[in-house]
Amino acid sequence: MQPHFEYIQDALYCEGVALADIARGAGTPVYVYSAASILDRYHAYDEALVDFPHLICYAVKANSNLGVLRLLVTAGSGFDIVSGGELFRVLKAGGDPGKVVFSGVGKTADEIEYALESGIHGFNSESEPELALIDALASRRGVQARVSLRVNPDVDATTHPYISTGLREHKFGVDIREAEGMYVRARSFGNLLLEGVSCHIGSQLLNTGPLMQAFDKMVSLVERLRAIGVPIKSLDLGGGIGVAYQPGEKMPSIPDFVAQMREKIFGRGLHLMIEPGRSIVGEAGVLLSRVLYRKVNGEKQFVIVDAGMNDLIRPALYQSHHEIIPLRLDGRGTITADIVGPVCESGDFLARDREVADVLPGDFMAVCTAGAYGFVAASNYNSRPRAAEVLVHGDEWRIVRERESLEDLVRGE
Ligand SMILES: *Cc1c(COP(=O)(O)O)cnc(C)c1O
Repeated sequence: MQPHFEYIQDALYCEGVALADIARGAGTPVYVYSAASILDRYHAYDEALVDFPHLICYAVKANSNLGVLRLLVTAGSGFDIVSGGELFRVLKAGGDPGKVVFSGVGKTADEIEYALESGIHGFNSESEPELALIDALASRRGVQARVSLRVNPDVDATTHPYISTGLREHKFGVDIREAEGMYVRARSFGNLLLEGVSCHIGSQLLNTGPLMQAFDKMVSLVERLRAIGVPIKSLDLGGGIGVAYQPGEKMPSIPDFVAQMREKIFGRGLHLMIEPGRSIVGEAGVLLSRVLYRKVNGEKQFVIVDAGMNDLIRPALYQSHHEIIPLRLDGRGTITADIVGPVCESGDFLARDREVADVLPGDFMAVCTAGAYGFVAASNYNSRPRAAEVLVHGDEWRIVRERESLEDLVRGE
């Protein structure tokens, strides 16, 4: 079970709150996040780095709810953003722009302007034309922009192909073999402070081997750059630590991972940056939904629930596994069924051929480990209003995003 989620007298709780109370009070589908879980994970990273110069930049794209961001702002976190919209959210949440790094392969001039105007810490840039644009816009404002090149270390993250980013064939980063040449050419840009290098090789890595391989390559790149007179001061090692979605899976220990990372860069005078997303929020959230109908087609059983692929696209997009458990254990036994949503697509499933509780219409179920890349990727497909989001704090809960209304669906049309 996810930390801070447990059955107490056959009812599923998040911290001190019975999830059925939230399902009834806020309606379904609804995402529920545990504040304690999010803070525990952030502190696990932060404490493992306490005596090392570092900045943890939570990857906003994993879960960008303002309530979640505010928690992390209070804890002292920085933020990794991939759009102007995410910068807007961080600033709304009271985040310190001086702790924001702007990543992503396709920043527009407007987004770069907005980031410069806000005074962000720096950019992770992925191409020479983008360096030129950042330089030109910084020059027009009369400021210096801190930039790291995102390097592609060419290691195989051995994760799902859609979330693997560190091979030469991927659109991300600049080829590590070309990085030195680019740093040298970039010296001609008068308004860039090229003080760092960065990488991010993929997501949902349960094995830290590929990350360590990448870090070795990055450290030797830093040494090569310094040898040719490029004064690299900081190393950004991205995100990528996976979480346990399936029984038997185990997420890597954050303290062990950080210790391994520290060992590689110890004594090199480098400021360390990391950009964890999923490992902070993934296990902190569930998606609650209500059973609408049971149905049998031939040999197959279906449980039709009120959450669909528009609410949680991960099973359809990545064939990902989420445990689905009842909010109340009533000893009725199990069935093997497809758990499907109401969306008119055969890809609209939350689980296939899964042994699940023998639920009845009206029962509530929790789709587990849904705190990362869940609500943020929700859509209005089939004109379905997006779900509400709830944050639990001890024995209190509050709605941190209201369920969309029908009017919201047509706003702007
Ligand atoms: C998505 C992303 C992250 C976060 O990855 P997780 O696997 O969620 O930790 C970090 N950095 C960059 C550049 C990203 O694109």
